[in-house]
Amino acid sequence: MKAIVFHQHGAPDVLKYEDVPDPVVRHNEVLVRVKACALNHLDLWVRRGLPNVPIPLPHIPGSDISGEIAQVGSDVSTVRVGQKVVLAPLVSCGKCAACVAGIDNRCRQATNLGYMIDGGCAELVRAPEVNCLPYPENLSFEEAASIPLVFQTAWHMLIARAELQPGEDVLVLGAGSGVGSAAIQVAKFFGARVIATASSDEKLQKGKELGADHLINHKSQKIRDEVRRITNKRGVDVVFEHVGTATWNDSLASLAAGGRLVTCGATTGYDAKLDLRFLFSRQLSLLGSYMGVKSELHTVMKLVASGRLKPVVDRIFPLAEAAAAHAYLESSSQFGKVVLKV
Ligand SMILES: [Zn+2]
Repeated sequence: MKAIVFHQHGAPDVLKYEDVPDPVVRHNEVLVRVKACALNHLDLWVRRGLPNVPIPLPHIPGSDISGEIAQVGSDVSTVRVGQKVVLAPLVSCGKCAACVAGIDNRCRQATNLGYMIDGGCAELVRAPEVNCLPYPENLSFEEAASIPLVFQTAWHMLIARAELQPGEDVLVLGAGSGVGSAAIQVAKFFGARVIATASSDEKLQKGKELGADHLINHKSQKIRDEVRRITNKRGVDVVFEHVGTATWNDSLASLAAGGRLVTCGATTGYDAKLDLRFLFSRQLSLLGSYMGVKSELHTVMKLVASGRLKPVVDRIFPLAEAAAAHAYLESSSQFGKVVLKV
């Protein structure tokens, strides 16, 4: 099969379009003929290389996959050949205490398709049967591939971790990112008021179309000042963080007393400072979040199929142009998902 492969870590040009052997399915796995694979910031980290994360080389990246089942292992009983499918990105052991409790994102062996194992930037990918999600028939393959990772992450952050309540105020940073555009929709679905930030008025307008109630251009406005103004000096109940160093101080300063900051990433850096007096006197909660659990993704797919949550596709590249797609995502000029068409 054809695949995007890198043999060493580095800049986008390490991504090569090559012939590689077809994956061989195990008894509990399916082989998927990939139709689309959406990119995430994770793909950029994996390609560049992470300290203390020995990614097996050569490696095929790509976590967000839609396609058709091409072959099933001998124990597979819930899906059949020819069926359209979206894959849950997180692959876990399925046997440990966390997995059997349904919190597979705390499995110590969990990884993502395209992270420690080969992913979907290829004509074929193998995945466990339990990762097969019902296909939302109202979506194209490119749209369907844009759903899993960002919606699962946003849902887990806002609902499972921050326990968002109707009527609360949420600050969503980086509305133009995949996870930001998902967070706006999830927060609105739960009846929250959303303040969204982005780097341009054009992106803010799109954030508004997704449901954001208030907009902050973080290039020309100071986030904490605008939040104070919009909330009548109170601050927000929940801050949705994934930006890291660049926004951390503003995020903390934007919290109301009793507020919760939930974070899933640090795209601008992971150094952060915290005044402990501020933390305890304001009774704040700082929450980490990683991916989500499969049952949340089943809920998300139902809401997508009924049109309550919508994928946001920015641009589609052919698989062979994965390097250009990575460079485009790195430039942060997108609104929503960058997708490879296979
Ligand atoms: Zn496990």
